[in-house]
Amino acid sequence: MEEVEDGKVEVIGKDVADVTPGTRLHFAMVAEVAGRNFQDDFEPILERQNHHLINQAQGVMHIGQRDIAWLRISKQAVEKGFKLEHIGKIIHAKYHQDFGAIFDKVQIKIYTDEAKVREILEKARASYEHRDNRIEGMTDETTETFYSCILCQSFAPSHVCVVSPERTGLCGAYNWLDCRASNEINPEGPNQPIQKGECIDERYGQFKGCNEYVSKASRQKIQNVSLYSLMVDPMTTCGCCECIAAILPMCNGIMTVDRDYIDMTPCGMKFTTLAGSAGGGAQSPGFLGHSKYNIGQRKFVKGDGGLLRMAWMPKRLKEEVGERIKKRGEELGVPNLLDMIADETVATTEDEVLAYITEKGHPCLTMESII
Ligand code: SF4
Repeated sequence: MEEVEDGKVEVIGKDVADVTPGTRLHFAMVAEVAGRNFQDDFEPILERQNHHLINQAQGVMHIGQRDIAWLRISKQAVEKGFKLEHIGKIIHAKYHQDFGAIFDKVQIKIYTDEAKVREILEKARASYEHRDNRIEGMTDETTETFYSCILCQSFAPSHVCVVSPERTGLCGAYNWLDCRASNEINPEGPNQPIQKGECIDERYGQFKGCNEYVSKASRQKIQNVSLYSLMVDPMTTCGCCECIAAILPMCNGIMTVDRDYIDMTPCGMKFTTLAGSAGGGAQSPGFLGHSKYNIGQRKFVKGDGGLLRMAWMPKRLKEEVGERIKKRGEELGVPNLLDMIADETVATTEDEVLAYITEKGHPCLTMESII
């Protein structure tokens, strides 16, 4: 409590007025929170608010979350005097306004110095890993309650995430435990318990309670939702997703691409085009927004054949989630699955992916037709 000075905002490194328009700055923001009622479990909930809180400032656009956040600040905002410290002031004011019951003080540090940002990044990634791992042992069968998340409806009005232990939010920032904690903090808020009710389809993960909730929360735009499929009534996708999976029909498999991969993918679209067509709260069979962590979860597109359908991923993403893919591959009886998945170093078109996976004897080639 003594270490935190409420409302203090520090900017360490260059500010937007110190650089020419068009410059890119490294960026890290740390909100140091103190409070008698604060718990570690509340950290992801506060952190996830930054997206919509920062977007309330005119001339500022915030995209993404965790370590893939991206901020754009308009020239007009800078001309009118906008500085990075104003982001800290927004966070301080809105945290108090919306979450004053769970903490007493918050101070903000904003870093644009590359070395310091990288140092913070390491700490943040360790924290994300810790948060993800908390859900690892839980299965969807162990609970009757899933949670909704409609936090992104301010950007995609019909989008509803149904978050179960084995289906983390597609932004990667909210898992089932986070939604439960959020509901405890704010029982009327964006994360409502959903009694999953009768299982309508075990393979695709369709539940009566989830369908009813999604129909209501999407204002009847979406009637049915599968938790484990990108082909049959897939969950809607909003612009926050960490990755987008897409069908590769010739390969009888799927690919997935993360936001950081900017080149063309074998499905003929870049991430931005995929996000433009599959995002926005639409239900798009053949396409699915999902988190990086979800790739290694047991229910990942289970209804379509699961992880054994994965034929292509960007190399960097493969490396990032590689250990979890190896583990799942072993569980599925294909210990060398990771090596069988093509990346941009061996294939950039669907024809090339097909040639690569054929040579490797990828299991998706002999699975039932995905269409
Ligand atoms: Fe919530 Fe889903 Fe948006 Fe994540 S992507 S904040 S889980 S609605």
